[in-house]
Amino acid sequence: MTNLIIFGPPGSGKGTQAVKLSTSFGLVHLSTGDILRQAIANRTPLGEKAKAYIDKGELVPDEDVAQMVVNAVDRNTDAGGFIFDGFPRNVFQAEFLDRTLKERGTSIHYLIALEVPREELIKRLLKRAEIENRTDDNLQVIENRIKVYYDQTIPVIDHYKKQGKYYPVNGLGTIEEVNRRIGDIINKK
Ligand code: UDP
Ligand code: MG
Repeated sequence: MTNLIIFGPPGSGKGTQAVKLSTSFGLVHLSTGDILRQAIANRTPLGEKAKAYIDKGELVPDEDVAQMVVNAVDRNTDAGGFIFDGFPRNVFQAEFLDRTLKERGTSIHYLIALEVPREELIKRLLKRAEIENRTDDNLQVIENRIKVYYDQTIPVIDHYKKQGKYYPVNGLGTIEEVNRRIGDIINKK
């Protein structure tokens, strides 16, 4: 089994790269953001609750996302592995994920961290706002999402660095270029 976390600030290209990697390496793409947006569209109780957090750029409570992740992992027991996209978003969630995988006889193998400068992130997210109509892609919420990322999510890097699983990747360039950089890391091991 190969399990990886695709990591990086909002707008760094996690979703785009996760979709490509899931095809080339036969992994299940598990995007907690996509699951939450689906829950909002379906007007489920979780969706109604999550919407308030997402529209402010805050993190949805740990217990809600943790439950979603466990459900998704246990629904895919035959998977060759997972790409966790958008999760874990803080150290508590990282510890939770490690425990969950350990109980199932596996673990995280790579934290692939996409590195993109702040100005480029804002440029990309404002462009996405015009295309995808996401309610959280406006300047004020984008700035808060980036702040939450620096305050709460960045410490996840150290958590996996200590485990020897941290792989930074330059997130600038074409989709293909970035994809090749990530593929090289996974193929090497
Ligand atoms: N979110 C969250 N926990 C998750 C995934 C998403 O709290 O595990 C919320 C959070 O409010 C975030 C928003 O959903 O700002 C959008 O998340 P997504 O991962 O889609 O955005 P990205 O960071 O990739 O732009
Ligand atoms: Mg995303």
